[in-house]
Amino acid sequence: MPSTVALLGVAIMSCVMSAAVLASLLRAGVAGVPRWCAAYGMFTVALALVIAGTHVPMWLGTMVSHTLFLVASLVILQGVREFFGRPLASPMEYVLVVAICVVMFYLTYVDSNLDARVTISSAYFAYVRVAIAWTAVRYRPPKRPKYNYYFLAISAFVGAQLHAARAMTYGFGFDHQTAFLDPSPLNVAFLGLGILSFPFMSIAMVMLAHDQLAQRMERLATIDELTGALVRRAFMERAESAMVTARARGTPLALAILDIDNFKAVNDRYGHAAGDRALAHFGAMVSKWLRPGDSFGRLGGEEFAVLFRSTREAEALQLTNGLRAVVAARHGDSTPYTFSAGVDEFERGDTLARVMVRADAALYAAKALGRDCVVTAQADDGPGERIEQPG
Ligand code: GH3
Ligand code: MG
Ligand code: MG
Repeated sequence: MPSTVALLGVAIMSCVMSAAVLASLLRAGVAGVPRWCAAYGMFTVALALVIAGTHVPMWLGTMVSHTLFLVASLVILQGVREFFGRPLASPMEYVLVVAICVVMFYLTYVDSNLDARVTISSAYFAYVRVAIAWTAVRYRPPKRPKYNYYFLAISAFVGAQLHAARAMTYGFGFDHQTAFLDPSPLNVAFLGLGILSFPFMSIAMVMLAHDQLAQRMERLATIDELTGALVRRAFMERAESAMVTARARGTPLALAILDIDNFKAVNDRYGHAAGDRALAHFGAMVSKWLRPGDSFGRLGGEEFAVLFRSTREAEALQLTNGLRAVVAARHGDSTPYTFSAGVDEFERGDTLARVMVRADAALYAAKALGRDCVVTAQADDGPGERIEQPG
Protein backbone atom coordinates (compact mmCIF):
# COMPACT_ATOMS: atom_id res chain seq x y z
CA MET A 1 0.00 0.00 0.00
CA PRO A 2 2.68 2.62 0.92
CA SER A 3 4.29 2.38 -2.55
CA THR A 4 1.05 3.34 -4.30
CA VAL A 5 0.36 6.09 -1.76
CA ALA A 6 3.89 7.45 -2.38
CA LEU A 7 3.21 7.39 -6.13
CA LEU A 8 0.01 9.38 -5.66
CA GLY A 9 1.93 11.81 -3.43
CA VAL A 10 4.38 12.38 -6.30
CA ALA A 11 1.42 12.81 -8.67
CA ILE A 12 -0.09 15.47 -6.39
CA MET A 13 3.20 17.41 -6.34
CA SER A 14 3.45 17.13 -10.10
CA CYS A 15 -0.14 18.40 -10.58
CA VAL A 16 0.39 21.30 -8.17
CA MET A 17 3.54 22.29 -10.09
CA SER A 18 1.76 21.93 -13.44
CA ALA A 19 -1.13 24.13 -12.25
CA ALA A 20 1.38 26.71 -10.95
CA VAL A 21 3.35 26.80 -14.22
CA LEU A 22 0.16 27.02 -16.30
CA ALA A 23 -1.12 29.77 -13.97
CA SER A 24 1.98 31.81 -14.85
CA LEU A 25 0.64 31.88 -18.44
CA LEU A 26 -2.89 32.99 -17.51
CA ARG A 27 -2.20 36.67 -18.13
CA ALA A 28 -0.85 35.95 -21.61
CA GLY A 29 -4.42 35.28 -22.74
CA VAL A 30 -3.64 32.04 -24.57
CA ALA A 31 -6.83 30.11 -25.33
CA GLY A 32 -7.12 26.86 -23.38
CA VAL A 33 -4.71 27.76 -20.57
CA PRO A 34 -7.41 28.64 -17.95
CA ARG A 35 -9.07 25.27 -18.55
CA TRP A 36 -5.78 23.37 -18.31
CA CYS A 37 -4.96 25.20 -15.10
CA ALA A 38 -8.38 24.42 -13.58
CA ALA A 39 -8.10 20.77 -14.67
CA TYR A 40 -4.75 20.33 -12.91
CA GLY A 41 -6.32 21.89 -9.80
CA MET A 42 -9.12 19.28 -10.02
CA PHE A 43 -6.62 16.44 -10.48
CA THR A 44 -4.80 17.62 -7.33
CA VAL A 45 -8.01 17.52 -5.24
CA ALA A 46 -9.06 14.18 -6.77
CA LEU A 47 -5.68 12.59 -5.98
CA ALA A 48 -5.74 13.97 -2.43
CA LEU A 49 -9.19 12.41 -1.93
CA VAL A 50 -7.94 9.04 -3.21
CA ILE A 51 -5.04 9.14 -0.75
CA ALA A 52 -7.39 10.19 2.06
CA GLY A 53 -9.33 7.03 1.09
CA THR A 54 -10.58 5.37 4.23
CA HIS A 55 -10.21 8.50 6.36
CA VAL A 56 -12.99 10.33 4.52
CA PRO A 57 -16.58 9.20 3.77
CA MET A 58 -16.81 6.77 0.87
CA TRP A 59 -18.85 9.12 -1.30
CA LEU A 60 -16.04 11.67 -1.00
CA GLY A 61 -13.08 9.31 -1.42
CA THR A 62 -14.63 7.36 -4.27
CA MET A 63 -17.52 9.13 -6.02
CA VAL A 64 -16.31 12.72 -5.78
CA SER A 65 -12.71 11.83 -6.64
CA HIS A 66 -13.77 9.72 -9.65
CA THR A 67 -16.11 12.43 -10.89
CA LEU A 68 -13.31 14.97 -10.57
CA PHE A 69 -10.97 12.75 -12.63
CA LEU A 70 -13.61 12.35 -15.35
CA VAL A 71 -14.47 16.07 -15.48
CA ALA A 72 -10.84 17.24 -15.30
CA SER A 73 -9.90 14.97 -18.23
CA LEU A 74 -12.74 16.39 -20.31
CA VAL A 75 -11.71 19.93 -19.33
CA ILE A 76 -8.14 19.21 -20.54
CA LEU A 77 -9.57 18.02 -23.88
CA GLN A 78 -11.79 21.12 -24.08
CA GLY A 79 -8.74 23.30 -23.39
CA VAL A 80 -6.90 21.62 -26.26
CA ARG A 81 -9.87 22.20 -28.59
CA GLU A 82 -10.15 25.80 -27.43
CA PHE A 83 -6.44 26.31 -28.08
CA PHE A 84 -6.91 25.12 -31.67
CA GLY A 85 -10.09 27.19 -32.11
CA ARG A 86 -12.38 24.15 -32.29
CA PRO A 87 -15.85 23.65 -30.70
CA LEU A 88 -15.34 22.70 -27.06
CA ALA A 89 -17.21 19.39 -26.74
CA SER A 90 -19.89 17.38 -28.41
CA PRO A 91 -23.08 16.89 -26.30
CA MET A 92 -22.37 13.15 -26.41
CA GLU A 93 -19.27 13.70 -24.27
CA TYR A 94 -21.33 15.32 -21.50
CA VAL A 95 -23.79 12.42 -21.72
CA LEU A 96 -20.85 9.99 -21.54
CA VAL A 97 -19.48 11.59 -18.36
CA VAL A 98 -22.90 11.54 -16.66
CA ALA A 99 -23.50 7.93 -17.77
CA ILE A 100 -20.11 6.83 -16.40
CA CYS A 101 -20.84 8.57 -13.07
CA VAL A 102 -24.17 6.69 -12.81
CA VAL A 103 -22.49 3.37 -13.63
CA MET A 104 -19.72 4.12 -11.11
CA PHE A 105 -22.36 4.77 -8.48
CA TYR A 106 -23.97 1.42 -9.28
CA LEU A 107 -20.62 -0.42 -9.23
CA THR A 108 -19.73 1.19 -5.89
CA TYR A 109 -22.94 1.03 -3.89
CA VAL A 110 -25.19 -1.57 -5.53
CA ASP A 111 -22.98 -4.22 -7.05
CA SER A 112 -19.43 -3.45 -5.92
CA ASN A 113 -17.03 -4.32 -8.73
CA LEU A 114 -13.66 -2.59 -8.73
CA ASP A 115 -12.41 -4.32 -11.91
CA ALA A 116 -15.40 -3.00 -13.86
CA ARG A 117 -14.89 0.51 -12.49
CA VAL A 118 -11.22 0.53 -13.44
CA THR A 119 -12.06 -0.86 -16.89
CA ILE A 120 -14.70 1.78 -17.62
CA SER A 121 -12.71 4.74 -16.33
CA SER A 122 -9.52 3.60 -18.12
CA ALA A 123 -11.41 3.20 -21.40
CA TYR A 124 -12.76 6.75 -20.99
CA PHE A 125 -9.28 8.17 -20.21
CA ALA A 126 -7.93 6.38 -23.31
CA TYR A 127 -10.68 7.99 -25.43
CA VAL A 128 -9.90 11.47 -24.06
CA ARG A 129 -6.19 11.05 -24.82
CA VAL A 130 -6.82 9.79 -28.33
CA ALA A 131 -9.08 12.81 -28.93
CA ILE A 132 -6.30 15.13 -27.66
CA ALA A 133 -3.68 13.48 -29.90
CA TRP A 134 -6.00 13.61 -32.92
CA THR A 135 -6.84 17.30 -32.35
CA ALA A 136 -3.14 18.23 -32.02
CA VAL A 137 -2.20 16.43 -35.26
CA ARG A 138 -5.28 17.46 -37.26
CA TYR A 139 -5.33 21.16 -36.34
CA ARG A 140 -1.59 21.81 -35.94
CA PRO A 141 -0.85 25.24 -37.47
CA PRO A 142 0.88 24.34 -40.77
CA LYS A 143 3.58 26.99 -40.65
CA ARG A 144 4.70 26.42 -37.07
CA PRO A 145 7.51 24.09 -35.92
CA LYS A 146 6.04 20.59 -35.57
CA TYR A 147 7.95 19.60 -32.45
CA ASN A 148 5.64 21.06 -29.76
CA TYR A 149 2.48 19.72 -31.40
CA TYR A 150 3.85 16.22 -31.91
CA PHE A 151 5.15 16.23 -28.34
CA LEU A 152 1.56 16.69 -27.13
CA ALA A 153 0.17 14.20 -29.64
CA ILE A 154 2.72 11.50 -28.77
CA SER A 155 2.41 12.08 -25.00
CA ALA A 156 -1.38 11.79 -25.26
CA PHE A 157 -1.23 8.79 -27.57
CA VAL A 158 1.22 6.85 -25.35
CA GLY A 159 -1.03 7.68 -22.37
CA ALA A 160 -4.01 6.36 -24.34
CA GLN A 161 -2.19 3.05 -24.98
CA LEU A 162 -1.46 2.71 -21.30
CA HIS A 163 -5.08 3.32 -20.30
CA ALA A 164 -6.30 0.95 -23.02
CA ALA A 165 -3.92 -1.75 -21.73
CA ARG A 166 -5.24 -1.16 -18.19
CA ALA A 167 -8.84 -1.36 -19.37
CA MET A 168 -8.15 -4.64 -21.18
CA THR A 169 -6.19 -6.14 -18.28
CA TYR A 170 -9.09 -5.72 -15.85
CA GLY A 171 -11.86 -5.93 -18.44
CA PHE A 172 -10.77 -9.35 -19.72
CA GLY A 173 -9.83 -10.56 -16.23
CA PHE A 174 -6.07 -10.94 -16.79
CA ASP A 175 -5.68 -9.48 -13.30
CA HIS A 176 -7.97 -8.44 -10.46
CA GLN A 177 -7.88 -5.38 -8.27
CA THR A 178 -8.61 -5.83 -4.61
CA ALA A 179 -8.26 -2.13 -3.81
CA PHE A 180 -7.58 0.98 -5.85
CA LEU A 181 -4.25 1.38 -4.04
CA ASP A 182 -3.48 -2.34 -4.34
CA PRO A 183 0.37 -2.63 -4.21
CA SER A 184 0.52 -5.50 -6.75
CA PRO A 185 3.38 -5.04 -9.28
CA LEU A 186 0.94 -4.57 -12.17
CA ASN A 187 -1.10 -1.93 -10.34
CA VAL A 188 2.07 -0.11 -9.24
CA ALA A 189 3.30 -0.17 -12.87
CA PHE A 190 -0.02 1.19 -14.21
CA LEU A 191 -0.25 3.88 -11.55
CA GLY A 192 3.42 4.85 -11.96
CA LEU A 193 3.21 5.16 -15.73
CA GLY A 194 -0.21 6.83 -15.58
CA ILE A 195 1.15 9.39 -13.13
CA LEU A 196 4.02 10.18 -15.52
CA SER A 197 1.47 11.27 -18.10
CA PHE A 198 0.44 14.24 -15.87
CA PRO A 199 3.75 16.15 -16.19
CA PHE A 200 4.19 15.07 -19.83
CA MET A 201 0.82 16.50 -20.79
CA SER A 202 1.30 19.73 -18.83
CA ILE A 203 4.78 20.25 -20.32
CA ALA A 204 3.22 19.80 -23.76
CA MET A 205 0.54 22.39 -22.94
CA VAL A 206 3.16 24.88 -21.79
CA MET A 207 5.06 24.21 -25.04
CA LEU A 208 1.91 24.92 -27.07
CA ALA A 209 1.27 28.16 -25.18
CA HIS A 210 4.89 29.24 -25.71
CA ASP A 211 4.67 28.51 -29.42
CA GLN A 212 1.60 30.70 -29.64
CA LEU A 213 3.40 33.50 -27.78
CA ALA A 214 6.41 33.11 -30.11
CA GLN A 215 4.02 33.28 -33.06
CA ARG A 216 2.58 36.55 -31.72
CA MET A 217 6.08 38.00 -31.28
CA GLU A 218 7.12 36.94 -34.78
CA ARG A 219 3.97 38.52 -36.16
CA LEU A 220 4.65 41.77 -34.31
CA ALA A 221 8.19 41.78 -35.72
CA THR A 222 7.17 41.09 -39.33
CA ILE A 223 3.69 42.55 -39.84
CA ASP A 224 2.91 46.26 -39.77
CA GLU A 225 0.03 46.64 -37.32
CA LEU A 226 -1.76 49.48 -39.13
CA THR A 227 -1.77 48.12 -42.67
CA GLY A 228 -1.19 44.37 -42.31
CA ALA A 229 1.72 44.65 -44.77
CA LEU A 230 5.14 43.15 -44.09
CA VAL A 231 7.45 45.59 -42.33
CA ARG A 232 10.30 46.89 -44.49
CA ARG A 233 12.95 44.44 -43.16
CA ALA A 234 10.67 41.41 -43.59
CA PHE A 235 9.68 42.52 -47.10
CA MET A 236 13.33 42.97 -48.12
CA GLU A 237 14.16 39.47 -46.82
CA ARG A 238 11.19 38.06 -48.73
CA ALA A 239 12.29 39.89 -51.88
CA GLU A 240 15.91 38.69 -51.58
CA SER A 241 14.79 35.08 -51.24
CA ALA A 242 12.27 35.45 -54.10
CA MET A 243 15.13 36.76 -56.27
CA VAL A 244 17.25 33.71 -55.49
CA THR A 245 14.34 31.38 -56.30
CA ALA A 246 13.46 33.22 -59.52
CA ARG A 247 17.09 33.09 -60.66
CA ALA A 248 17.37 29.37 -59.89
CA ARG A 249 14.12 28.54 -61.69
CA GLY A 250 14.57 31.03 -64.52
CA THR A 251 11.17 32.62 -63.80
CA PRO A 252 10.50 36.37 -64.04
CA LEU A 253 9.99 38.57 -61.00
CA ALA A 254 8.56 42.09 -60.92
CA LEU A 255 8.39 44.79 -58.29
CA ALA A 256 6.09 47.80 -57.86
CA ILE A 257 6.62 50.71 -55.48
CA LEU A 258 3.34 52.42 -54.57
CA ASP A 259 3.06 55.81 -52.90
CA ILE A 260 -0.16 57.48 -51.80
CA ASP A 261 -0.65 60.82 -53.53
CA ASN A 262 -0.59 64.09 -51.63
CA PHE A 263 -0.98 62.25 -48.38
CA LYS A 264 0.24 65.21 -46.40
CA ALA A 265 -2.75 67.12 -47.78
CA VAL A 266 -5.06 64.18 -46.89
CA ASN A 267 -3.81 64.40 -43.30
CA ASP A 268 -4.14 68.17 -43.27
CA ARG A 269 -7.65 68.09 -44.64
CA TYR A 270 -9.22 65.11 -42.85
CA GLY A 271 -6.95 64.76 -39.80
CA HIS A 272 -4.19 62.30 -38.89
CA ALA A 273 -6.66 59.70 -37.58
CA ALA A 274 -8.52 59.71 -40.91
CA GLY A 275 -5.10 59.40 -42.61
CA ASP A 276 -4.40 56.33 -40.48
CA ARG A 277 -7.78 54.85 -41.44
CA ALA A 278 -7.00 55.48 -45.11
CA LEU A 279 -3.68 53.64 -44.71
CA ALA A 280 -5.44 50.73 -42.99
CA HIS A 281 -8.07 50.71 -45.75
CA PHE A 282 -5.35 50.70 -48.41
CA GLY A 283 -3.54 47.84 -46.65
CA ALA A 284 -6.74 45.79 -46.49
CA MET A 285 -7.55 46.48 -50.17
CA VAL A 286 -4.09 45.46 -51.36
CA SER A 287 -4.07 42.33 -49.18
CA LYS A 288 -7.40 41.23 -50.72
CA TRP A 289 -6.25 41.99 -54.23
CA LEU A 290 -2.86 40.25 -53.88
CA ARG A 291 -2.43 36.93 -55.70
CA PRO A 292 -1.24 33.90 -53.71
CA GLY A 293 2.57 33.93 -53.61
CA ASP A 294 2.87 37.71 -54.11
CA SER A 295 4.18 39.85 -51.23
CA PHE A 296 3.16 43.24 -49.92
CA GLY A 297 5.33 45.43 -47.69
CA ARG A 298 5.24 48.88 -46.12
CA LEU A 299 8.56 50.53 -46.96
CA GLY A 300 7.80 53.49 -44.67
CA GLY A 301 5.12 56.15 -44.12
CA GLU A 302 2.70 55.99 -47.06
CA GLU A 303 5.08 54.13 -49.37
CA PHE A 304 4.52 50.44 -50.13
CA ALA A 305 5.95 47.71 -52.36
CA VAL A 306 4.48 44.67 -54.06
CA LEU A 307 6.53 41.73 -55.31
CA PHE A 308 4.93 39.83 -58.20
CA ARG A 309 6.18 36.27 -58.50
CA SER A 310 6.56 34.64 -61.95
CA THR A 311 5.40 37.89 -63.52
CA ARG A 312 6.79 40.06 -66.31
CA GLU A 313 6.88 43.84 -66.08
CA ALA A 314 3.97 44.30 -68.52
CA GLU A 315 1.66 42.07 -66.47
CA ALA A 316 2.76 43.73 -63.21
CA LEU A 317 1.94 47.08 -64.82
CA GLN A 318 -1.55 45.89 -65.76
CA LEU A 319 -2.18 44.42 -62.31
CA THR A 320 -0.98 47.53 -60.49
CA ASN A 321 -2.99 49.77 -62.76
CA GLY A 322 -6.07 47.64 -62.08
CA LEU A 323 -5.61 48.22 -58.36
CA ARG A 324 -5.02 51.94 -58.97
CA ALA A 325 -8.29 52.21 -60.88
CA VAL A 326 -10.24 50.40 -58.14
CA VAL A 327 -8.72 52.59 -55.38
CA ALA A 328 -9.35 55.80 -57.32
CA ALA A 329 -12.93 54.85 -58.29
CA ARG A 330 -14.29 53.91 -54.87
CA HIS A 331 -16.71 56.32 -53.24
CA GLY A 332 -17.85 57.01 -49.73
CA ASP A 333 -16.26 54.04 -47.94
CA SER A 334 -13.35 56.04 -46.48
CA THR A 335 -11.26 59.17 -46.93
CA PRO A 336 -10.65 59.63 -50.67
CA TYR A 337 -7.10 59.08 -51.86
CA THR A 338 -5.19 57.84 -54.90
CA PHE A 339 -1.74 56.37 -55.39
CA SER A 340 1.00 56.41 -57.98
CA ALA A 341 3.37 53.53 -58.71
CA GLY A 342 6.60 52.64 -60.43
CA VAL A 343 7.04 49.11 -61.78
CA ASP A 344 10.16 47.23 -62.80
CA GLU A 345 11.31 43.70 -63.56
CA PHE A 346 14.39 41.94 -62.18
CA GLU A 347 17.04 41.46 -64.89
CA ARG A 348 19.80 38.86 -64.93
CA GLY A 349 22.51 39.90 -62.44
CA ASP A 350 20.34 42.57 -60.80
CA THR A 351 20.50 43.34 -57.11
CA LEU A 352 17.39 44.18 -55.13
CA ALA A 353 18.79 47.66 -54.44
CA ARG A 354 19.19 48.36 -58.17
CA VAL A 355 15.65 47.25 -58.99
CA MET A 356 14.27 49.37 -56.17
CA VAL A 357 16.16 52.42 -57.39
CA ARG A 358 14.69 51.94 -60.91
CA ALA A 359 11.14 51.36 -59.61
CA ASP A 360 11.52 54.43 -57.38
CA ALA A 361 12.62 56.53 -60.36
CA ALA A 362 9.53 55.31 -62.22
CA LEU A 363 7.41 56.31 -59.24
CA TYR A 364 8.87 59.80 -59.34
CA ALA A 365 8.09 59.93 -63.05
CA ALA A 366 4.48 58.98 -62.20
CA LYS A 367 4.33 61.81 -59.66
CA ALA A 368 5.76 64.22 -62.23
CA LEU A 369 3.10 63.11 -64.72
CA GLY A 370 0.38 64.36 -62.38
CA ARG A 371 -0.07 61.36 -59.96
CA ASP A 372 -2.79 58.64 -59.91
CA CYS A 373 -0.92 56.65 -62.58
CA VAL A 374 1.51 53.75 -62.97
CA VAL A 375 4.80 53.98 -64.87
CA THR A 376 7.36 51.34 -65.75
CA ALA A 377 11.07 51.93 -65.19
CA GLN A 378 13.02 53.72 -67.89
CA ALA A 379 14.76 51.16 -70.12
CA ASP A 380 18.39 51.96 -71.01
CA ASP A 381 17.39 52.39 -74.62
CA GLY A 382 14.17 54.36 -74.33
CA PRO A 383 11.48 55.99 -72.22
CA GLY A 384 9.32 54.07 -69.76
CA GLU A 385 5.79 53.09 -70.67
CA ARG A 386 3.03 54.96 -68.92
CA ILE A 387 -0.52 53.99 -68.15
CA GLU A 388 -2.65 57.09 -68.09
CA GLN A 389 -5.07 57.87 -65.33
CA PRO A 390 -8.63 57.69 -66.60
CA GLY A 391 -10.58 60.84 -67.42
P1 GH3 B 1 3.34 62.80 -52.91
O1 GH3 B 1 2.11 62.70 -53.73
O2 GH3 B 1 4.42 63.53 -53.61
O3 GH3 B 1 3.77 61.50 -52.37
O4 GH3 B 1 2.93 63.74 -51.66
P2 GH3 B 1 2.77 63.29 -50.17
O5 GH3 B 1 2.12 64.41 -49.43
O6 GH3 B 1 2.10 61.99 -50.10
O7 GH3 B 1 4.25 63.06 -49.74
P3 GH3 B 1 5.11 63.58 -48.52
O8 GH3 B 1 6.32 62.71 -48.49
O9 GH3 B 1 5.33 65.06 -48.63
O10 GH3 B 1 4.22 63.34 -47.27
C1 GH3 B 1 3.93 62.07 -46.80
C2 GH3 B 1 2.98 62.24 -45.67
O11 GH3 B 1 2.55 60.96 -45.18
C3 GH3 B 1 3.59 62.98 -44.51
C4 GH3 B 1 3.27 62.12 -43.31
O12 GH3 B 1 2.70 62.89 -42.28
C5 GH3 B 1 2.25 61.14 -43.82
N1 GH3 B 1 2.36 59.89 -43.13
C6 GH3 B 1 3.39 59.04 -43.12
N2 GH3 B 1 3.13 57.97 -42.33
C7 GH3 B 1 1.89 58.18 -41.83
C8 GH3 B 1 1.05 57.44 -40.95
O13 GH3 B 1 1.39 56.36 -40.44
N3 GH3 B 1 -0.18 57.95 -40.67
C9 GH3 B 1 -0.60 59.15 -41.21
N4 GH3 B 1 -1.81 59.58 -40.91
N5 GH3 B 1 0.17 59.84 -42.02
C10 GH3 B 1 1.39 59.39 -42.33
MG1 MG C 1 2.93 60.27 -51.01
MG1 MG D 1 6.11 59.06 -49.80
